[in-house]
Amino acid sequence: MLTKAPRGTKDILPRDVYRWRFVEEKFIEICRDFNYKEIRTPTFEHTELFERGVGETTDIVEKEMYTFIDKGGRSITLKPEGTAPVVRAFIENNIYAEQQPSKFYYIIPAFRYERPQSGRLREFHQFGIESFGSSDPAIDAEVISLAVNFFSRLGINDLKLHINSVGCPECRRTYNAALKEYLKPKLQELCTDCRSRYERNPMRVLDCKVDSDRLKNAPIMLDYLCDDCKAHFNKLKEYLDILGIGYEIDPRIVRGLDYYTKTAFEIISENIGSQGTVCGGGRYDGLVKECGGPDVPGIGFGLGIERLLSVLDAYGIKIPEPKPLDVYVAPVGDEVKKTALKILYFLRNLGIAAETDYMGRSLKAQMKYAGKLNARYAIVIGDDEIKSGKAVIKNMSDGTTTEINIDNEGLIKVKEIIGGRYNE
Ligand code: ATP
Ligand code: MG
Repeated sequence: MLTKAPRGTKDILPRDVYRWRFVEEKFIEICRDFNYKEIRTPTFEHTELFERGVGETTDIVEKEMYTFIDKGGRSITLKPEGTAPVVRAFIENNIYAEQQPSKFYYIIPAFRYERPQSGRLREFHQFGIESFGSSDPAIDAEVISLAVNFFSRLGINDLKLHINSVGCPECRRTYNAALKEYLKPKLQELCTDCRSRYERNPMRVLDCKVDSDRLKNAPIMLDYLCDDCKAHFNKLKEYLDILGIGYEIDPRIVRGLDYYTKTAFEIISENIGSQGTVCGGGRYDGLVKECGGPDVPGIGFGLGIERLLSVLDAYGIKIPEPKPLDVYVAPVGDEVKKTALKILYFLRNLGIAAETDYMGRSLKAQMKYAGKLNARYAIVIGDDEIKSGKAVIKNMSDGTTTEINIDNEGLIKVKEIIGGRYNE
């Protein structure tokens, strides 16, 4: 137990972190270009928020939540997704009273008690955006285009974008009746989950992973859209066409969450195995009100970072490796160590990435170590250097050397010699 992380969790080690940093920075960059602002919400919330905001008939609320009673007797849940907390913050901080739309992005860990497998963890990470206040289908197109553009900025242009409309409570009522009619004679063949969904939220039956093949001929929401929902969907398609974004209409996308209205979409990779949905989102016009706020529409998406990284791997996309160390400082002998440490500290303070030895290595072993660290330059400090006040800085890749004074002025010149610091 002590030396094993909980099932479904993963360490992200220094040798991999740069890949996470890279996609995070790209995501932050695109959100800036689309004028989405970062929001950070707590890691846990009152359980009721998710019961209400995600929906009682979803997989998440039915079986996946990390819920516990805290020492004050409150029911608390680790956030299984990002939307409900942002909705809560939007309401609690009266952001709806400011100019609209309100456009947020976030980078979060999310927690779901699922069966761990490839692409499915118990703690995973998401990029997400939410946009509140506008019912304009142009903002649906904006949200989708941000996701599509994000992938293409990473060098991936052939993921599948599937779109659908799940209608509004009004047209869904007619549709649900038709769907129930269709499902009724098949009820005995359906899985237990689906039998209970049949009563509570029949459209969710189409989302079933067990029964998907058997329901091929079920009526589809698109045939039942009211005029308003139909017009919205048509406009969305027009805008996507204008932006040159290809899509496939997929009536099977109903999304797991109860609060979706109108637009629903997924971005799917066929190269990362069975958990191929990398990004899922849609409109949720009833959600803010459902959570106790005013009647404000919204739309957003969640994008799984682990699955995104698998896609990058599958496409063989190279993520730039972290820059190497600038300078290795090698003291020879204990006496010179004090001077060497001062030099090291001075260089670091100039913004030069520098390292030394703390393991009592010989000079030979230190040079080997400097090579392992990928240091671009090395400075050896021995008795002679202390005496003369001069040292040699060696370019580790071509062996060329330059003499420097090891006083402050001389050390400032190191910056020029090494051609600036690596992150400039
Ligand atoms: P799935 O159908 O795969 O269970 P979902 O509909 O539950 O997905 P969402 O709630 O829409 O997923 O979450 C958004 C994204 O988060 C998904 O598209 C996926 O990339 C990622 N994701 C969801 N659950 C997990 C998980 N357990 N482990 C890793 N990534 C996940
Ligand atoms: Mg799920």
